[in-house]
Amino acid sequence: MVMLLEHVAGSILGLAVGDALGVPVEFESRHSLKQNPVTDMRAYGSHRQPVGTWSDDSSLALCLAESLTQSYDLKDVANRFVNWYNYNYWTPHGEVFDVGIATSQAIHQLGLGIEPTKAGGKSVSSNGNGSLMRILPLLFYIYNKPIEQRFAIVKDVSSLTHAHIRSVMACFYYLEFARLLMQRTDKFMAFEQTKNTVNDFLKTQNHIPMEEIDLFHRLLVNPIGNYDIKPIYEYKEAEIYSSGYVLHTLEASIWCILTSDSYAETVLKAVNLGEDTDTTGAVAGGLAGIMYTEVGIPKSWLVQLVKVEEIRDLTVRLFEKMSQN
Ligand SMILES: [Mg+2]
Repeated sequence: MVMLLEHVAGSILGLAVGDALGVPVEFESRHSLKQNPVTDMRAYGSHRQPVGTWSDDSSLALCLAESLTQSYDLKDVANRFVNWYNYNYWTPHGEVFDVGIATSQAIHQLGLGIEPTKAGGKSVSSNGNGSLMRILPLLFYIYNKPIEQRFAIVKDVSSLTHAHIRSVMACFYYLEFARLLMQRTDKFMAFEQTKNTVNDFLKTQNHIPMEEIDLFHRLLVNPIGNYDIKPIYEYKEAEIYSSGYVLHTLEASIWCILTSDSYAETVLKAVNLGEDTDTTGAVAGGLAGIMYTEVGIPKSWLVQLVKVEEIRDLTVRLFEKMSQN
């Protein structure tokens, strides 16, 4: 299936803009954002950064994208993560101002030269959204590969920082949904199809415990069979969580895209859920960027995005390399 530059550019710019909208209000509660919702790019706030500043989510996604413009090489991705952390590579203003615990521990291991797929935490408590927030550029590399390979590659790339099966499954689900959006499938049909495809695939994976699959019940076809199987877009906002837990971020991003009709509505809804605002904004923003493409992202936000020309240039280089696959 053909890949279009508008999808590559839309996804990465969409992710970075969603991240930048969320950075000034990271950790703010939903209740406090109800009083003073984000409606536009803001400056300063939580991390005291200038307007348009994106965070670790975008930096690590850009490191992955940059690596893929060369080849698919986990050691190269690992080196770029280390260079980000230690030498401010692909940072908006030459400093790392935010990093998750699991990610920093894994990058420390990567810096010591551990094998890339062995660096990420494997414990059940290592299921923050740190691999989900940076996985999107991988979509273009796996786009035309069979599902078994897509899963295996996603597993390895997640495992650089997050090796637990729950994080791997969340990344896989996200990219399967994004892949269908890229094919211009109606978003509700894309969701139904993702539910079925992922459900069927996961059940062939005997190494995945049923309890883990069951945790995704809001996003699958009633895996164990004793749930109210209301589709996620019928959930009320109060039933959608926006912490830094990987499953919350995945559910929130899909809920935002399915209940919104534009790029701006999707990302503002995501950010205004509160708490992990930059990551929910980035993860939802990447999907919305694919759906509505770059022309759907408000111009006034794009012009304020730090290093927007460098990011756009990277998306062109990534598109050119990926179209040769
Ligand atoms: Mg962040």
